[in-house]
Amino acid sequence: MTSDFSLLKNLQQQLTDLEKKQLRRQRRVTETPCAPVVQVDGRQLLAFCSNDYLGLASHPEIINALKEGADLYGAGSGASHLISGHSLAHHQLEEQLAKLFKENFDKAGCLYFSTGYMANLAVLSALAGKEAEIFSEELNHASLIDGARLSRAKISVYPHRDLTQLESLLKQSKANIKCVVTDSVFSMEGEIAPLPELLALCERYGAWLIVDDAHGFGVLGEHGHGVLQHFNLHSPHIVYIGTLGKAAGVSGAFVAAHHSAIEWLIQRARTYIYTTATPPAIAHALLKSIAIITSDEGKKRRSHLQSLIHAWRSAQQLQHWQSLASPTAIQPVIIGSNEKVMAVGAALLEQGLWVGAIRPPTVPLNTARLRITLSAAHTHEQLTTLIAAIHDCEASMA
Ligand SMILES: *Cc1c(COP(=O)(O)O)cnc(C)c1O
Repeated sequence: MTSDFSLLKNLQQQLTDLEKKQLRRQRRVTETPCAPVVQVDGRQLLAFCSNDYLGLASHPEIINALKEGADLYGAGSGASHLISGHSLAHHQLEEQLAKLFKENFDKAGCLYFSTGYMANLAVLSALAGKEAEIFSEELNHASLIDGARLSRAKISVYPHRDLTQLESLLKQSKANIKCVVTDSVFSMEGEIAPLPELLALCERYGAWLIVDDAHGFGVLGEHGHGVLQHFNLHSPHIVYIGTLGKAAGVSGAFVAAHHSAIEWLIQRARTYIYTTATPPAIAHALLKSIAIITSDEGKKRRSHLQSLIHAWRSAQQLQHWQSLASPTAIQPVIIGSNEKVMAVGAALLEQGLWVGAIRPPTVPLNTARLRITLSAAHTHEQLTTLIAAIHDCEASMA
């Protein structure tokens, strides 16, 4: 092929444009397990950017369970769940998860998915069809936005946390199937959605409440069951999505709901039906992870994480940059422009600190930010190092 192939040229031009706007993204290759200290290019970095909130991604017992799972079930599942890929490990995981939600649904069921992205596509496209209306919170995760588009339902976006506007949209709606869709913990803000109020609206207007708890499962609630336990919510209107690659430290996701809704997903969710089941060993490792989350050890990890959140919130008193008042492990610092956030990220990296620098379109224009994520695996000393470095950067760069 000659180099004047115009489709390729067009892409190259667009990549150059991204570069100019400081929007071209880069991957860094990590050479060691996910942990507070990781090696990148042979260099040790102190990382505050993973979603491994409980520090389970390199937990020895979970690593052993993964190996044991490979011995028991082999490497691959061989087929989709509805053909022959649904193994005992997947089945046990769903049963174990369903037990965590027996307080939230009269007859709780759970369905395990390969990823949270696929679970969100599944729920929205299976529950909402062309005749439905989806009421989508403005700051929802991309996978919920894509799921809404895939469903072909009418989509009405309501402003962030605006219950009044949501109610007026629900009141006007003529759709016979209504779905209110929200993140529980907003992934770039860290705040928790007003779920009790949202549920009350859903019950009043006969709508589903679809909750994506990617950043809450394992972290929120006394026993780590997530945001429904945090608020003590119980309703057949709720469809709950938890992910298993963040606090649970492994990979995958699940939907918890009344068992009839789960049965419907098994019949209709295309991202469940038309894909190879994940390796059973992963489900086997997750059995161990869920056991840890719900044990005393899980509780200790959550309380250590809470003490780090508290320490961060009381120690960082920024003068120019704005830290959002977040009660969760996600602690953003708004810097503003793309150039500035990239410069701050680079300055921190120079000092051996790795913090996520988040730019549009992931966040609204001119709100580029550092996304600091805390983990139960961090020590208070490590957090002190981060706070000092951010203060230094602010003093010299703001
Ligand atoms: C990470 C995330 C997902 C996607 O989950 P994966 O298992 O990583 O595909 C979905 N929703 C939210 C809010 C997330 O943060």
